[in-house]
Amino acid sequence: MQSNAIHRPSRTKIVATLGPASNSSEMVLKLILAGVDIFRINAAHGTAETFAVMLQNVRQAEKNAGVPIGVLMDLGGPKIRLGKLPGDELTLNENEAVRFSNLVNEARKSAAGIPILTSTYEPLVEELAVGDRILLADGTVELRVTEKSPRGDWAECLVVQPGTIRSRQGVNLPGVKLSVPAMLEVDRANAAWAVQNGVNFLGLSFVRHASEIHDLKNIIQENGGGTQVVAKIEKPEAVENLVEIVEATDAVMVARGDLGVETDIANVPVLQKEIISICHHYRKPVIVATQMLESMTHHNLPTRAEVADVANAILDGADACMLSGESAVGEYPVETVQMMHRIAMGTEDYVRSEDYAFISENSPFDPILEATAHSVCELAENVQAKYILAATGTGGTALCLSTNRCPVPILGLSHSLESLRRMSLYWGVLPMTLPEEMQDPTEIMRYVITLFQKQGFLTPGDRVVLLTGQNLDSCHNAIVVYEVEKTSLRIG
Ligand code: PGA
Ligand code: MN
Repeated sequence: MQSNAIHRPSRTKIVATLGPASNSSEMVLKLILAGVDIFRINAAHGTAETFAVMLQNVRQAEKNAGVPIGVLMDLGGPKIRLGKLPGDELTLNENEAVRFSNLVNEARKSAAGIPILTSTYEPLVEELAVGDRILLADGTVELRVTEKSPRGDWAECLVVQPGTIRSRQGVNLPGVKLSVPAMLEVDRANAAWAVQNGVNFLGLSFVRHASEIHDLKNIIQENGGGTQVVAKIEKPEAVENLVEIVEATDAVMVARGDLGVETDIANVPVLQKEIISICHHYRKPVIVATQMLESMTHHNLPTRAEVADVANAILDGADACMLSGESAVGEYPVETVQMMHRIAMGTEDYVRSEDYAFISENSPFDPILEATAHSVCELAENVQAKYILAATGTGGTALCLSTNRCPVPILGLSHSLESLRRMSLYWGVLPMTLPEEMQDPTEIMRYVITLFQKQGFLTPGDRVVLLTGQNLDSCHNAIVVYEVEKTSLRIG
C-alpha cells in the first residue's frame, strides 16, 4: 500500500464507531478523508456477518485512501441488559414497586399488578442484596432493592428516580461485585474471529483486574497474535486496580458512558485526567470516549461544552477522541468528524510538550530507547526539524516518541502493515509504508525526503531527524540530522 497521507492530518487520532450511518465503503472513505484514523466495530450490536461487512468496508476504503487505518473491535463483555419489555417501553413512577425476576422470559405484570423485569444475566436476582442500587437507561432511572423472595426467584425494588426504560437497555449495578466473567462465550468467539481477520485492537469492556487482560491476550496468542488489547475503564474496580491494568494492557479507553453510571458522574472529569496521566507514565496510548460531540447526532453544530470537552481531552493528553452514536447512527457523521478534526487542529499547538517530555521510570521500553527518544524530541525542536523519522519494526519506537508530545510530527516508517495500522492510534504519528527490504538508514532517509519533496511537504533547507537502529527490529539508538539540499531533488 502506497502512503498518501492526508494533507495536514490532526496529531490527535479520531476513532469513529461504525453503524447504519456509516455502513458502506464509500461512506467509510469519506470519513477517512474527513480525518478518521481508527474505526470501531461495537460487537455489543450485530452478528458475525455484519462485523465481516464492516471490516471489509474499512479495508476497501483504506486501500482507496492509501493510508493505514486501524480497526478496533469492542467486545460487549458482561454488560447486563434488560430483557424484552411489553411494547418495548415502560414508564416507572416514583415510589412504584417493580420486580426483577429470573423466571420469566418477557416482562409482564405480577398477580399483584407489579411490573416484572427480566435481564440477560441469569444470576442477577441471586447476587442482588437488599439496599443495592440498580441504574437503568444510562443512569437516568434508579431503583433500590427492598426485598428478596424467600425462594430467590425475584427481587423487589422501589423506583427512586422515575423515568422511561426500553427493552435491551443496559443495567448498571454500581458497587455491586458480580461474579460474571469479563468475557462471555460470545466474546471469546468474537475475539478469535477478530484476531484471525486482522483486527488491530480488541476492546475489553468492564475490566476489573489485570488477569482479565492476560486472559484475552492468551486468546489472541492462540489465534495467531498481532492484535492489541484496549482496556475499557468503566467500573470502580478498574479505577481501584488502575496501575496493574494499565501495566498489563496495550492501550486504554476512558469509557465515560458506563464510568459515569458506575461511579459518580461528577468525578468523571478528574478520573479522566488521572487515567490519562497514568497511561502516559506507562507509555500506553489512551482513547477518550462517549458523548464527545453527542448533540451532533441530530444537529450540524455541537454545543460549546462539547467543543470544550474535545479540546480538554486533548489538553489532558489523550491520544485519540472517539465518536459513538455520532458516526454510527447520527445524521451528520462526516460533519462530526470534520468538527472533531477542526477542534484538534485548533487545540494541538497548546499541548505543552514540557509537561510530557520526560524519561519515565515506568516505561516498558528499553531504557536506552526511552532516553534516546526523549533526546530526539528535544533535538528536533532545537533544530526546528519538519519531521522526525522513526524507522520501526513493531511501532514501539514511534509510541515512545509520541508520548513525549513533541510538536514535530513523527513519521512512523515500517514494512509491516500490522505495525502501521497499530500506529494509527499514536498521537502525532503519521504511519507511512516503507518499500520492502529497505533497511539502510541513509536509503530510508533519501526515500522519504524525495517523496516529501515531490509532494511539497519538504523544501531545500528543511531539516529532518531520523531515529533508527542497526536494523528496524534492534534497539533504536542512532540519530541522524539531515538538511534537505537542492541536489536531493534528483528523483531516481
Ligand atoms: P460502550 O463503551 O460504548 O461500548 O458502552 C464506551 C463507554 O461506556 O463509554
Ligand atoms: Mn461501556
